[in-house]
Amino acid sequence: MAKPKVHTFDAVIVGAGGAGLMAALYASKGANVAVISKLYPTRSHTGAAQGGIGASLGNVNEDHWNWHAYDTVKGSDYLADQDAVDVLCKDAVEVVIELEHMGLPFDRLDNGRISQRRFGGHTDNNTNKPVERACHAADRTGHMILQTLYQQCLKNSVNFFDEYQVVDIIRVGDTIRGVVAVNVADGEFHIFHSKGVMFASGGWGRCWQVTSNAHSLTGDGAAICLRNGIPLQDMEFFQFHPTGIFKLGILITEGVRGEGGVLINSEGERFMKRYAPTIKDLASRDVVSRAIFLEVKAGRGINGKNYVHLDVTPPTVNHYYEEDGEDRRIDEAYVQAKLPDIADFTRTYLGVDPVKEPMPVQPTAHYAMGGIPTDVDGRVLLDALKTPLPGLYAAGETACVSVHGANRLGTNSLTDLVVFGRRSGKHMAEYVKSAELLPLPDDAADQAMADFEMLRKSNGSTKPYQLREAMQELMTEKVGVFRVQENMDEAVDELRDLIQRWETDLIVEDKGKIFNTDLLEAWELRNLLYLARVTARSAAERKESRGGHARDDFKERNDTDWLKHTLCYLQDDDELELDYKPVTLGRFEPKARVY
Ligand SMILES: Cc1cc2nc3c(=O)[nH]c(=O)nc-3n(C[C@H](O)[C@H](O)[C@H](O)COP(=O)(O)OP(=O)(O)OC[C@H]3O[C@@H](n4cnc5c(N)ncnc54)[C@H](O)[C@@H]3O)c2cc1C
Repeated sequence: MAKPKVHTFDAVIVGAGGAGLMAALYASKGANVAVISKLYPTRSHTGAAQGGIGASLGNVNEDHWNWHAYDTVKGSDYLADQDAVDVLCKDAVEVVIELEHMGLPFDRLDNGRISQRRFGGHTDNNTNKPVERACHAADRTGHMILQTLYQQCLKNSVNFFDEYQVVDIIRVGDTIRGVVAVNVADGEFHIFHSKGVMFASGGWGRCWQVTSNAHSLTGDGAAICLRNGIPLQDMEFFQFHPTGIFKLGILITEGVRGEGGVLINSEGERFMKRYAPTIKDLASRDVVSRAIFLEVKAGRGINGKNYVHLDVTPPTVNHYYEEDGEDRRIDEAYVQAKLPDIADFTRTYLGVDPVKEPMPVQPTAHYAMGGIPTDVDGRVLLDALKTPLPGLYAAGETACVSVHGANRLGTNSLTDLVVFGRRSGKHMAEYVKSAELLPLPDDAADQAMADFEMLRKSNGSTKPYQLREAMQELMTEKVGVFRVQENMDEAVDELRDLIQRWETDLIVEDKGKIFNTDLLEAWELRNLLYLARVTARSAAERKESRGGHARDDFKERNDTDWLKHTLCYLQDDDELELDYKPVTLGRFEPKARVY
């Protein structure tokens, strides 16, 4: 096999979503930076984000960064680190204005300020009523962020390696020396030799059957770190968004409910009133997902099936709001102006015109709260003592700072990307100024090349899709919206068996090199299997219900024993080991959740 081509940069960023691009923009101000992305940058999942980015600008109603912080901590079920949350909510205001100055076309109010709308869990802390905090560009906010940042990166001469897939990091002891990547177009290996590496490689919703996540979201960065001795934090917390399009999982933004849409069961009842009397349809996502699950279980799914209706049809909505003494109106022109893409999706995929009939929705696997542990400057942390690994960074969905704790508030991911992308980019630029470029070991790419050679020669009887379907089914059934011990224990064992089959009985039929996506997907499948296993194991161990981790056998949150972060390590013998680290508390004392 040809020797890998070596490229040298100060810093390498893996991923060109919102986090990677924001980091690249800042790092490139002080360093020679390469962004490596398996997708063309503007195809990253950030571009699919619809509803908005949270910042307490207070353009519509009174708002404050510390109200945003309280909502974030409360939404996280008190598992977020409060020092990091303060950074998120304070920096958010400045960063959103910075994005506007870069040219991001936010929707505007009549007075010219950035328009903001309601979103789940965002409240006026005095009255508990919803507050307008989500800044948006129609329902294409992520798309606009991505386009804006990509243009800024091009302007700043960031070097892009598009459609290169990173398959390993080069770690020697406690030093980082670069990454190994495959050029998707011709299957050749490349080494990116650098002083600093950042993972901004996104989430892993593809572990589950019904998901809002793109096919590419296979958690490569997190899995690579796990294999290289870095723990993954709080992996048991995965968010199910309540409103995925029935069967397809495609997301219908919470912005629909923010703009006035309501959830209805088969009896025509606006059932969220029973689960969250004050905030109703705008309760946090874990609460609404569980409510839908329970309605379906009680036989109140539409047509006896496992979905409910999301209704924005004008007469009904007016009716519901009159009933509540509110006078917010939604009509066809409003839907067209504020939710054009959503209307388009449901017309295209379901043949349902949301202006005329309600949309069938069910919970969809959406967002990884856990991931690679970092501090507020994106430095990757190796253990419960928070020891950083110099030169290694992570930001965005793959990272766990942790600002989302056990459950993320809507709009806080986009905020996280730009706030912590910016901070880690800045920190990395400083770091590489004084760091030395350490020599590459001779065997830098050997392991990765051997793995791919093995896959190419694989000649077993199991096709990757069979393992993928088995994993997705078992994760949905056993590590889904509601969980019990026995199921999670079974999942841990079954995932170990699936990994074994991946190693011993796989067959990849395409043996070629040119655009061999079969081969790359088989490699990605191993990442998903390991992340699923870590999720199941971390979940099985946590004997309480908190945020996205809801157990039927331990229904209550237990702060005495479980107000702590999980760390999960992969050991040399392929076993998983768990450790825990304290949550950083602050101004907000853990309180029981009131809905
Ligand atoms: C449908 C949908 C709607 C959403 N709406 C909102 C919203 O309104 N507000 C909000 O706050 N959040 C929203 N979210 C969540 C938010 O969009 C994501 O969490 C966020 O965009 C993730 O950004 P990221 O930069 O971490 O990664 P991504 O944007 O997912 O990008 C990952 C990048 O990593 C690259 N990559 C991955 N693996 C490799 C590899 N092995 N080698 C090289 N490159 C690699 C990819 O090419 C890509 O460039 C939504 C998510 C979805 C799925």
